[in-house]
Amino acid sequence: MDYAVVFIFGAVIGSFLSVCIYRIPLGRSIVRPRSFCPVCKHPIRWFDNVPLVSFLLLGGRCRHCGEKISLRYFFVELLTAVSGTVLLFYSSDYAGFLIYWFFTCILIVVAFIDIERRLIPDIFSIPGIFAGLVLSAFFSTGSAVFSAAALKDSLIGVLAGGGSMYLMGVLGEMAFKEKAKKAGGAVGGGDVKLMAMIGAFMGWKLALVTFFLAPVLGAAAGLYVLLKRKQDIIPYGPFLALGAFISLLYGDNILSFLFGF
Ligand SMILES: [Zn+2]
Repeated sequence: MDYAVVFIFGAVIGSFLSVCIYRIPLGRSIVRPRSFCPVCKHPIRWFDNVPLVSFLLLGGRCRHCGEKISLRYFFVELLTAVSGTVLLFYSSDYAGFLIYWFFTCILIVVAFIDIERRLIPDIFSIPGIFAGLVLSAFFSTGSAVFSAAALKDSLIGVLAGGGSMYLMGVLGEMAFKEKAKKAGGAVGGGDVKLMAMIGAFMGWKLALVTFFLAPVLGAAAGLYVLLKRKQDIIPYGPFLALGAFISLLYGDNILSFLFGF
């Protein structure tokens, strides 16, 4: 029962995240106007705006002009619903579940904005760093008790996450001078701030697992993009986000496998 509620609620949240992904980089309000078809501008009625279901019933097309609706809408709704369900399964307490689902929602928005626009807006990562610090400090034990140790772990996480990414950028620029100049830096400042936020929510150990996991995930996708589309610049945010989610679920297992703690 819990899982079904989280799944349905997740699809609804996902539908809102899609609006954020589309409108926030354009500087538009996320509450007004109501959703409309980006092609024919026809407002979308509530029965055509039911998460997951409407997309399937309409066959992924606008009811009015028949133009294709981006698969991204369906995918973000599904991803938000599934990630919530999976996190609930792995969580030992509700506070942790809610915090990490909230964190995952930010990751989803950031990843898709980065895919579509090659940028990670500060409006997510900077407040995200503070949210991560505060939530970690007060809810790490599952109940609302301040923990200095958790705050310290989260603070070191910000430094380790952001620092490792920054260092990678410096080294990358030294190694690929010409290419990096063309792309405006090997590592974007957005990636540094995103990793700092990941560190704030997950602590320094899992932030470092994320840091090492992301290039492994990115390499496979990068190879595909390089061969298929003859492009050699790919957004890195989605791999940091995916790496963070995997570390959230399996980071401790990965660490104990590697180092035995
Ligand atoms: Zn339309």
